[in-house]
Amino acid sequence: MFNEVKRFDSSEQNVWKYVFTTEEVVTEAVLYKYESFKNRTVICCSVQSGCPVGCKFCGTGKKFIRNLKPDEIIYQVTHMIEDMKIANDVLSSDKFQIMFMSMGEPMLNWDNVESAIKLLNVLYPNAQLLISTVGINNDKTFSKMIELSKQIDKVGLQFSIHKAFEEERNTLIPFKNKMPLRKIRDAGITWSKETGRKVYLNYCVDGTNVTDDHLNRLKDLFSPMFFNLTFSVVCSADETMKDAGYRNHNVIKEFMNKFLEDGYNVRMFDPAGQDDIGGGCGMLWYVQEWLKNKKNV
Ligand code: SF4
Repeated sequence: MFNEVKRFDSSEQNVWKYVFTTEEVVTEAVLYKYESFKNRTVICCSVQSGCPVGCKFCGTGKKFIRNLKPDEIIYQVTHMIEDMKIANDVLSSDKFQIMFMSMGEPMLNWDNVESAIKLLNVLYPNAQLLISTVGINNDKTFSKMIELSKQIDKVGLQFSIHKAFEEERNTLIPFKNKMPLRKIRDAGITWSKETGRKVYLNYCVDGTNVTDDHLNRLKDLFSPMFFNLTFSVVCSADETMKDAGYRNHNVIKEFMNKFLEDGYNVRMFDPAGQDDIGGGCGMLWYVQEWLKNKKNV
């Protein structure tokens, strides 16, 4: 399926990034170990080669090659587990998470992502399966996602919002056919009521989006009855910006605390391995070079 697989190890031996290539496509997946694989394992895998959404902070969004097929999505997960010889650890772990949040937008490749999720649920019945989306504005696809989430109670949903106001979100995520924030709220509430689970909101802190106006707008829109918040520290689009990621944890913690006070479930996401092997999910420098060098894709 893939001609070549390369592995990049973090110096602390807790993050491994894999790049899968053929002549035509490149894709990447990431494996995180928290203390031990049995304690907690997180896998982020790709659903597209490149991405048509074009988020400004993400190197992946500069090019789009094609949707990945179900076996190409599943292979990323099974290969990493086999290569690291951790099948027993992940299968006996209470905290094994497979996230569809590396390269690509799951709602733009829904049928293939759905097939992959169904099979991954059979292979790894204990794995949480998290769909991370910017919220593509397609009611039919969203309904299918709700149906799958009702069938498989391990399926989770995360919206990447990153901004509290439409105009600034449109600048950061220029893709036109996405849900406005109010529609994300409504869709999230529907998903939560149908599944009995809360929706995650991913908010990438860049230092400009933590004012009181942002705080109040987020609280107005998203009730803690239906939404949990994840504040991410990944905001650098390419190697030249690798020091620009906003790392002021105190500012982020202060912002988070203001939600905690109101009963929100909040957490910070600051993945290891960003500095020595490059970027967050979907932003490996090696992949960006590969894409740049493929002039015809
Ligand atoms: S952040 Fe996700 S949706 Fe946005 S361009 Fe990157 S891969 Fe695509």
